Amino acid sequence: MSLPPARLGDPVEAIDTPALIVDHAAMARNIARMAREAADAGISLRPHAKTHKCAAVARAQVAAGAIGVACQKTAEAEAMVAGGIADVLVTNQVVAPAKLTRLAALARVARIGLCLDAAGPARAASAAAVAAGSTLDVLVEVDVGQGRCGTAPGAPAAELAALAAGLPGLRFRGLQAYNGAAQHLRSPAERAAAVARSADATRATLDALADRGLEAPVVGGAGTGTYTLETPGPWTEIQPGSYVFMDADYARNGLAAGVAPYEQALWVLATVISRRDLADGRQHLVLDAGHKAAAIDSGPPRLADHPTAEVAQMSDEHAVAILAPDVAAVALGERLRLVPGHIDPTVNLHDHLVVLAETAGARTVVSTWPIEARGAVR
Ligand SMILES: *Cc1c(COP(=O)(O)O)cnc(C)c1O
Repeated sequence: MSLPPARLGDPVEAIDTPALIVDHAAMARNIARMAREAADAGISLRPHAKTHKCAAVARAQVAAGAIGVACQKTAEAEAMVAGGIADVLVTNQVVAPAKLTRLAALARVARIGLCLDAAGPARAASAAAVAAGSTLDVLVEVDVGQGRCGTAPGAPAAELAALAAGLPGLRFRGLQAYNGAAQHLRSPAERAAAVARSADATRATLDALADRGLEAPVVGGAGTGTYTLETPGPWTEIQPGSYVFMDADYARNGLAAGVAPYEQALWVLATVISRRDLADGRQHLVLDAGHKAAAIDSGPPRLADHPTAEVAQMSDEHAVAILAPDVAAVALGERLRLVPGHIDPTVNLHDHLVVLAETAGARTVVSTWPIEARGAVR
C-alpha cells in the first residue's frame, strides 16, 4: 500500500495528486438519508461495500442503522470483518472450495451469508461449514431480470432452497433478487417497469417456496437507482452501494418527481500539469489523472467545478480537458476535482480516501482512511 497522499490538517492545496477526496459532511448526509428512508419504509438496509471497500465507511453506515454490509468477493468480506463489521452477506456465487473454507472460517467470528444458484456449491458450502464448526447463512439467488447469476424464478429456486434447508452447516434465510441492469436505465418509468417484472418473478418464487413449506424471512436486492421502487415490493433488505459517494453515471439518471439526487461526496483530485490557450480562445488543460486514477467504463469523468468542460482524452496518466472561451483562466498547478464516471472501479484504483471537513472555518484533511479491500478480487 502506498503512503497516504495527505497529512492530517493539510489544506486541499497540500494534497498530493491524483488522490481520492471525500467531503465528510456530504458522505454523512448520504448515509443518514438512506438509513432514514429505509427505516421509514420498515425495510432493512445492508449497504454494498463493493462501492467504498473501506471499513471506516462501513462502520459509519452500521452506526447509522445498517444491519451489516454486502460484499461481492470473499476477500472483501474478510477485510470488512477485520474492520469490525459483524454481519456480511456475499451477494455472489462462491464455488471454489478454498473460498468456501475461508468464508466458513470467517463465520466463526461474524455472521456470514452467501448466495447459491446450484446444488454443487450448496453441498460444498455445507461441507466447509461443518468442517469449520460454523454456520453459513444462505440465500438462493434468483435471476429476476439481469441475466447473470441465479436460478430461474419459481420451482428451480424452490428446489435448491429445499436442498439448502436440509444441509448441515447452512441456515436457509431466503432469496437474493437483485436486478443490477435496472439501476442504470435512464428514465424512472423504465426502471419502474423493470422492477415490476423483478417483483413478479420474486413473488412467484416465494409462492413456490411456500408450496414446499419453506419460509423466506430475507429477500435481498435493490440498488441506488431503484430502491425507492423496491421498498413497497416483496423485498425485506435493500443493498444500495453507490449512494454513499455517487458518480457521473448515476447523476445522468432521471429521477422521479420529488426524489432528490444523492450528493456527490467523492472526487478524484487532480493537478493541471500542462496548459495552453487554443487559437479559438478555449483552454486546453492536461491533468495528472488518467484512467489509472479514474475508471472510464461508464464514460470519462466530469470536471466538478467546470460542468461545461469536455474531457476530450483519457490516457493512462493524463486527462485532457477543454474549457470554453468564457471560462476564467485556469493556472498551471491548480487543483481540479473530477467526478468519476463509475464510482466502484475508481475507488479500487486507490489506497486511501482523503477525508475533508470544515474545522474552525478552514477546509482541511481530517482523516486518511485506508481502502482495505482495494484489489480484493479473490
Ligand atoms: C452492486 C450491487 C448493489 C449496489 O448497487 P448500486 O447501484 O451501487 O447502488 C446491490 N446489490 C448487489 C447484489 C450488487 O451487486
